Amino acid sequence: MIPLSRCAQRTTVFVLIFASMQLPALANVDPKKGRVTTNPTSGNSYTIEQEVAYGRQAIPEIEKELPLLPVDHPASKYIDSLGHRLAAKAPGYQFPYSFRVVRQKEINAFALPGGPIYINIGTIQAGSEAEVAGVLGHEIAHVVMRHSTRQASRQAKASVPLAILSGVLGASVGGWAGSLAQMGISIGAGGVFTKYSRDAETEADMVGAQIIYDAGYDPYAMVTFFQKLKQQQGGGGGPSFLASHPDPGNRAKNVASILSRFPAKNYQQGDIPEFVAAKDALSNLGPAAPAQTSIEAAVALHRLPTKELASDTFTNYEHGAFRVSYPSNWQLQGDRNTALTLYPPGGASAETVAYGAILSGFTPGGGGNNLDEGTRQLLSSIQDTNPGLRSIGQPANTSVNGRPAKSLELQGNSSIQENGQPIPERIRLVALRGKGNLILYMVFIAPKVDFDALLPAFERITQSFVLRE
Ligand SMILES: [Zn+2]
Repeated sequence: MIPLSRCAQRTTVFVLIFASMQLPALANVDPKKGRVTTNPTSGNSYTIEQEVAYGRQAIPEIEKELPLLPVDHPASKYIDSLGHRLAAKAPGYQFPYSFRVVRQKEINAFALPGGPIYINIGTIQAGSEAEVAGVLGHEIAHVVMRHSTRQASRQAKASVPLAILSGVLGASVGGWAGSLAQMGISIGAGGVFTKYSRDAETEADMVGAQIIYDAGYDPYAMVTFFQKLKQQQGGGGGPSFLASHPDPGNRAKNVASILSRFPAKNYQQGDIPEFVAAKDALSNLGPAAPAQTSIEAAVALHRLPTKELASDTFTNYEHGAFRVSYPSNWQLQGDRNTALTLYPPGGASAETVAYGAILSGFTPGGGGNNLDEGTRQLLSSIQDTNPGLRSIGQPANTSVNGRPAKSLELQGNSSIQENGQPIPERIRLVALRGKGNLILYMVFIAPKVDFDALLPAFERITQSFVLRE
């Protein structure tokens, strides 16, 4: 628990330091009051009803994977009541919220579209009441600002889920799981991870701070919790909440920039008895069930030894739209109806690919059946979702098994870090025309330093690619 008297003092200091700070550049923030009052609907191709329906459909699938605390446990009851109290302060549309506690010790929480919210017992155990409220406020903000469907609307336009393993081939959305993947929510064995844009995370922090302020909690608790996260991160094997969330230090600054604009008021002092009792009841639970796989996939990727990159023997794969061969030591994510991700062991996490290939397809907008235009749209959507990427030169004409194709090299930042910095990454994009208006593409990814070692494998994959009739 954070001593609150000290907390209040630090608030004052913090406000002084950051009083002149710029607000993060978000369109819907009132620059004087630092408040977000609207939930934007522009650019969202989902109705609120659809959004709520998607979330509801996902509940049984999600809960099958998670060890949930019974609803009558004191911690479940407390979180349910706190969650609803906070949700009542959320700006904009009142979604049908639900709050469940997951019996996992990692610090994590996530929201499904339209209102279902989950929080790990590890989060409750690590926080003060106001800090736990801050985490719930952040997740409520993801719901009320409709980050999942806004992201899905952008992804559907782009159909290039480069950062997401379980993409969807073309327009054939593979049921709710495919839709959820487009919404930035992926489900693995035993875990759920979310991936929103940095702006969405900033917005969730700001709206979350505003919600807990309005509910009577010291919004500086958001900042102290980020500091705790950062400490844990420093200890190695960081908590899963960090894997999909920006640097806690930057988040603290962003939140502080709006706190300086909120009028001072008296906040709740200390933790209420129900919270203390809930926490006590959790400590009597015994050891929490470990997550089968780490939620939010907190695996940091590293450079792989050259000899482990690609075996000489290849395996064939029959996809619904094509046939392809790939090194037999590689792993495959996806199935015959979805995008495929192929990668050497340790080359990809649940969120990003550092070594390997993504094979997918999309239908270019504008109805043109033109490879140049398709390649241009593909490139621009890849750059939208990966802002650091830049193309090297112009798309070159090539062929894949006799079919006209375009090839383009890109350079960006790898998800592998060395000395705290991402190492340079090289990407090769190959696009060719499929049936009808479909453009099929292959994205080959490796750290720049290892790209040449993988080039023979990349070329062999490219030349094995055959469209199915
Ligand atoms: Zn978030």
